[in-house]
Amino acid sequence: MTRHRKALLVTGASRGIGAETAKLAAAHGWRVAVNYVRDQQAAGNVVAQIEEQGGEAFAIQGDVGSQRDIMEMFEAVDGRFGSLEGLVNNAGVVDVAQRVDEMSLERLERMMRINVTGSILCAREAVKRMSTKHGGGGGSIVNLSSVAAVLGAPGQYVDYAAAKGAIDVFTLGLAREVAEEGIRVNAVRPGIIDTEIHASGGQPDRAERLKGLIPMKRPGTAEEVARAIVWLLSDDASYSTGAVLDVTGGR
Ligand code: NAP
Repeated sequence: MTRHRKALLVTGASRGIGAETAKLAAAHGWRVAVNYVRDQQAAGNVVAQIEEQGGEAFAIQGDVGSQRDIMEMFEAVDGRFGSLEGLVNNAGVVDVAQRVDEMSLERLERMMRINVTGSILCAREAVKRMSTKHGGGGGSIVNLSSVAAVLGAPGQYVDYAAAKGAIDVFTLGLAREVAEEGIRVNAVRPGIIDTEIHASGGQPDRAERLKGLIPMKRPGTAEEVARAIVWLLSDDASYSTGAVLDVTGGR
């Protein structure tokens, strides 16, 4: 356990990688704001599990596709914790498998609004609170990329891959922009992880079906990704910034 109970916001923490990150971070001494968009009960369960282990957490509803929701979310964190030392930009969406020549403007706008603009706006609010330039005490931001950013996801969701490519470049640029201000910014780039995101894109069997493409011949677990995220958040990663850590089973 760390001596000071630093405050962390994990977006999209009601299930999957975000939920495991919230729980593991709490076990490492972070106070955690558990964001969700729809599933209040699932977020409440994550908070209850953290509290049962002696940790501190609260659930906060908010759509990272909405600037107003993001502002309210950070204000709620200010009110509850009084400071912010960690942000995990985890909330993200895929869509059904389509070729680019089938994609609608509505699909593309949702994909970019949630996965790219939402992460940048959350990082903006975090930097305002963490930066020594603004009177903060520093902090750590971890963004969720995807191996799709290097594979391109042809015939599946090239738009998602492009959004995650943007996250990689944003991670590098922001890391260099705020490196002198006490803030580290890194990304984790998961491969195929066994979560409900695949069902949300209409492919509930995707992780099982594609496991033969993974050198380790199995999908990863949300907890395996969470371990990488919590390490990058921690002071153990004190000289890492602008890094993108692959958690892909070798893919
Ligand atoms: P998931 O199981 O589908 O969970 C998504 C989480 O994000 C849920 O807590 C959901 O909340 C929340 N969420 C969705 N839209 C949101 C919005 N607009 N605002 C706030 N929260 C929102 O996803 P996952 O597989 O854990 O993925 C987490 C991150 O890892 C994503 O950025 C994803 O792109 C990335 N990733 C995943 C994989 C993989 O194979 N699973 C691979 C590479 C990268 P509700 O429960 O309330 O809906």
